[in-house]
Amino acid sequence: MIIPYGRHNLSSDDEQAVIKALRSGWLTTGPLVTAFELELGKRFNAPHVAALSNGTAALHAAMFALGIGPGDEVVTPSISFAATANCVAYVGAKPVFAEVDPDTLLVTPETVEQAITPNTRAIIVMDYGGQPCEYDLLASLASKRGVALIADACHSVGAEYKGRPVGSLADVTVFSFHPVKNMTTCEGGAVLTANADWEARIRMFRNHGIDSDFRQREKAVSYDYDMVDLGFNYRLSDLHSALGISQLSKLDSWVEERNRLDSQYNNILADVPWVTPLSDLEERLHARHLKVVRIDSKDASRDRIFHDLRKVGLGVNVHYKPIYLHTYYKKAYGYEPGLCPLAEEAYSKILTLPLFPGLTSQQVEYVCECLIAAGEGHSVFPAAPSGSN
Ligand SMILES: *Cc1c(COP(=O)(O)O)cnc(C)c1O
Repeated sequence: MIIPYGRHNLSSDDEQAVIKALRSGWLTTGPLVTAFELELGKRFNAPHVAALSNGTAALHAAMFALGIGPGDEVVTPSISFAATANCVAYVGAKPVFAEVDPDTLLVTPETVEQAITPNTRAIIVMDYGGQPCEYDLLASLASKRGVALIADACHSVGAEYKGRPVGSLADVTVFSFHPVKNMTTCEGGAVLTANADWEARIRMFRNHGIDSDFRQREKAVSYDYDMVDLGFNYRLSDLHSALGISQLSKLDSWVEERNRLDSQYNNILADVPWVTPLSDLEERLHARHLKVVRIDSKDASRDRIFHDLRKVGLGVNVHYKPIYLHTYYKKAYGYEPGLCPLAEEAYSKILTLPLFPGLTSQQVEYVCECLIAAGEGHSVFPAAPSGSN
């Protein structure tokens, strides 16, 4: 791959932070986990934060905290990474898929409302590509129906809605710090909430369901602990947290850089009639996690363009197949094609182009030149700019 679709950004200050943590004596859950949680809470305006081993664990913990289980339904987006719905299946509840707006690929208050039934206990929304959903209306819908609003904000770390940070907009917000996301801890995730009880339940859940952690028992000079619920080992380590603290200090400049690169793509592709970017909504700072365009060329299909670009080393991708079309969801819940026609139509047209801090403007030009050549059905592609890695 010459240019991937997304990529982490590491520098020597990150390395120094990790080495310092490595030499501190704490390898797993120590003081840096707490420090990372405090930093996240400050930055994203969330009173309670629990760091977990990855974003999927954080989603699972959120389901546990809310007490969702068999017989319950949770509304989830039709277009997202599978983990957004898998967390519902983990606790024995049923994911019910909401249609997306074809211009943003976000669920809307209307599509969510259509998926609500008397069994609905929670709504999970996902800020597709880094653009926050319509949180004010979604929050009032959730409270009107007496259900919780959960934000899968794995794409939108660093985004804002009406001047408020993502992380403070839903009852529970989930972040992922996987290397391809907006900032990384290698593997890692977090749950942000204003609810102290949920935070306590999540802390227990990430540590086998045990009511105290090692450091608390050390302090109390006690060996006794009680496993009060069935939990998992979903802890984050001090090494990961050291990297997270260091990365967090650079998040805002990366979001700016992502926005600059995104505008460059739009400027170059503005004259290409068969390429349409997704729409931007008002009153938001978009985190630009993914650069997704819709392809409608008479000379080449989306799949042909995808394969041509992969052949020249461009890590284009497709995010995502509607979750209910995966074999597991058909088998386990009987879902069938046709459930969300707009999501299925979008899935046949979307293409994710490379976008990450550190991508150069020459590389953006090159990606656009190759995309245009592929979409016009040419078989000869421009040469890659020097400095591509
Ligand atoms: C990455 C991602 C997840 C899962 O995060 P991990 O840290 O990889 O477990 C969940 N939902 C969405 C939308 C994601 O993009």
